[in-house]
Amino acid sequence: MNYNEIVEVYEKIEATSSRIKMTNLLVGLFTKTPKELIDKVVYLTQGKIYPDYYGIELGIAEKMAIKAMSIAYGVGTKDIERLLGKLGDLGLVAQELASRKKQMSLFYKPLTVQRVYEIFDKIAKATGEGSQDLKIRLLSGLLADAKPKEAKYIIRTVTGNMRLGIADMTILDALAIAFLKTKKYRDVVERAYNLSNDLGDVARTLAYEGLEGIKKYKIKPGKPIRMMLAQRMENVREILLKVGGKAACEWKYDGERVQIHKINDEIILYSRRAENITEQYPDVCELAKTSIKAEEAVVEGEIVAYNPETLELLPFQELMHRRRKYGIEEAMKKYPVITFLFDALYVDGEDLTQKPFIERRRKLEEIVSKNDKFTFSNMIISDNPEEIEKFFYEALENGCEGLMIKALDGVYQAGARGWLWIKLKKSYESKIIEPIDVVVVGAFFGKGRRAKTYGALLAAVYNKEKDIFETICKVGSGFTDKDLEKLPEIFDKYRIKKRHARVVSELEADVWFTPSVVIEIIGDELTLSPVHTCAYGVIREGVGIAVRFPRFTGRWRFDKAPEDATTTKEIIEMYKAQLKRIEESSS
Ligand code: ATP
Repeated sequence: MNYNEIVEVYEKIEATSSRIKMTNLLVGLFTKTPKELIDKVVYLTQGKIYPDYYGIELGIAEKMAIKAMSIAYGVGTKDIERLLGKLGDLGLVAQELASRKKQMSLFYKPLTVQRVYEIFDKIAKATGEGSQDLKIRLLSGLLADAKPKEAKYIIRTVTGNMRLGIADMTILDALAIAFLKTKKYRDVVERAYNLSNDLGDVARTLAYEGLEGIKKYKIKPGKPIRMMLAQRMENVREILLKVGGKAACEWKYDGERVQIHKINDEIILYSRRAENITEQYPDVCELAKTSIKAEEAVVEGEIVAYNPETLELLPFQELMHRRRKYGIEEAMKKYPVITFLFDALYVDGEDLTQKPFIERRRKLEEIVSKNDKFTFSNMIISDNPEEIEKFFYEALENGCEGLMIKALDGVYQAGARGWLWIKLKKSYESKIIEPIDVVVVGAFFGKGRRAKTYGALLAAVYNKEKDIFETICKVGSGFTDKDLEKLPEIFDKYRIKKRHARVVSELEADVWFTPSVVIEIIGDELTLSPVHTCAYGVIREGVGIAVRFPRFTGRWRFDKAPEDATTTKEIIEMYKAQLKRIEESSS
């Protein structure tokens, strides 16, 4: 298959913002892709060469790409930089330079997908001495053989700027239609993705084994399972009704969610976003290796920082000191942790996700020999609201955020936020909304003391049904001077020329970002607003919902993907609950 064939599809995708058109274009592409290439084509379409959890990124710096272009096109780097200033996108610069180049040589052979992929792979894996030169040589060789449009996408891919705006869910839709000819089995396809976080592997299974294969798709230790999430409610009695009267109530620890994979002696740790965080927690790995008795297992828990002198549990923010690449040994001593396990998803060949929660817990306790630092979550099984409330206050006193209440017979809903797990958190004063997680989609320039940074960020929530981000407020308060200083550094890599295709905004931001960074904010209340697009027209025609007096809480949620932000649906529910509270207090 020639690379040009997929580039033609990218061109069309880039020109549309309609999800239906995008899906159809992808269906066309996947249908004509040879089986043995399907995974590679899926990854390339996402601007990657492996699923994210591999942690292998192309990420060539702009300077390096310019050097490679200079060699391939025989143009000075200064000239390329000048052209970049004019066109604003290095991919377009490559396209322009390639089209200026004289005719292709007589021996020109079209670029194949296979070759492009292999060279990307070599570029990504080159490390150590001389690797910079090797990367430049590989890239310039590829560019020399690329047609103008191919050059555009090669450069965009290697610099990590593919930006086609295709969501994973759109790729799943397209795969289901391309290989099963109907969307009827879309759920089965999605389940495979939820169990693997690997769209390439799902595509390969569909291409080779069709419906039967995808139905039989099982957990593969080593591939992160998308985590099950919880709904939230504020009243114990109502929660009990929802989960079947009697429930498992666990302390809700304020730490980092971890999914531990054990494959014989190897341990891999994945975060809430399925990032490989093994290197950050050598202490947890060691304990997992010695305490998990099964040969192969996937278990889940929460890693929590604690004070070894007082044995108190410490808040999540303390753990952020462990998010680093260097000085891990030192951080490990300074910020020790305890792991509280609460679920088992796979044990020695058996996929437990369809088993009732209580059975999974039993299995967990069976295969782990616990100790002080690697233990189980504190749990009671109860149908008594008073007893549960007491347990809740005990959790708060012990540095937890509240309780997780779980249906005893509930299956593990990978990747879903269902009603089988419900979180009960400390409630706030009636009018003050509880913290929400918002995605930063744009920013406004600062003035005075903030001249060198941004004055306010444009924040959005996730509309899951439409797969878009809707603005909910401008947030400029709550940032410390240190935070403010860091804003450009954090956001500039996500800067884009115009509003992202998946962002809906009535406001014109000074700069726009690819929705990537999630922050936690709190506000005074939710109000109706004509300028924000969250739940536009849902409560009342012509207005959306906004947060009044929003403030940053200081929590950067780097552990969350943009799609993990608070959803429009949740905001609508919060708005209705707020109305109810106001009505109750005034009656
Ligand atoms: P979410 O993860 O639901 O999107 P969030 O990151 O804002 O939301 P919370 O609302 O605080 O997190 O609650 C869910 C998280 O609580 C889980 O993802 C997990 O990390 C954590 N947690 C702590 N204790 C438990 C427990 N006993 N069972 C399940 N999850 C727990």
